[in-house]
Amino acid sequence: LINILMSEDKVGFREVKTILLGDSGVGKTSIINRYVNNRFNPDLPSSLCSSSNEVEIIKDDINYKLIIWDTSGQEVYHSLTNLFIKGSNIVILTYAVNSLSSFEGLKYWHKSLVDNIGANNYVLAVVGSKMDLVNEEVVTEEQGKEFADEKNAIFKLVSAKENSKGIHELFDLLLEELIEKFPNYDENKSYNYNPKKKIGKKKKRHCC
Ligand code: GDP
Ligand code: MG
Repeated sequence: LINILMSEDKVGFREVKTILLGDSGVGKTSIINRYVNNRFNPDLPSSLCSSSNEVEIIKDDINYKLIIWDTSGQEVYHSLTNLFIKGSNIVILTYAVNSLSSFEGLKYWHKSLVDNIGANNYVLAVVGSKMDLVNEEVVTEEQGKEFADEKNAIFKLVSAKENSKGIHELFDLLLEELIEKFPNYDENKSYNYNPKKKIGKKKKRHCC
């Protein structure tokens, strides 16, 4: 019994506040639904309230509880969304590959983010959703990548409809980056920088 207690003691526990931001209709709820329930519902009712889902992942004896906030409907109540942004550890900026306005909307969402919680206290992804709609694509992969590079974000194209793998990879990548960038977790549930790692490393751009 003592052994069991001791080994349980060794298992750390960390909460990871995760939030999806982006214009209404880009597929935020569908991404979460695919990740959490492995389901896709083409007739998703758009709800006005926000909700959260929890996913637990164990890595290196640490139990990470991802609390994923869906800001469904909050798009129209921007000040409310700002409240949700506070304290986020992982932020996913979402646009749909068949909507130029949703891609342009990312500038607004990124600004809300920086205005509320700065530019460096979380890990960030830029995600182009609905990649199955290739025939309707109006935002190229290059454009998406360029925006992500500018913001020091992970870039990924996903489809909640046709490919769950990409969505799992996205969350795995983000958690790995969080652990690498902020290996220290304190009693206030906040993640702290690894002082040995360079922060805000710029991806190499084309030279010459
Ligand atoms: P939200 O407002 O950002 O939460 O977007 P939803 O998840 O509610 O999705 C809006 C609409 O886009 C719904 O009709 C979904 O069925 C559809 N949708 C979401 N993800 C995908 C996808 O990957 N592919 C396609 N073809 N449609 C999608
Ligand atoms: Mg939604």
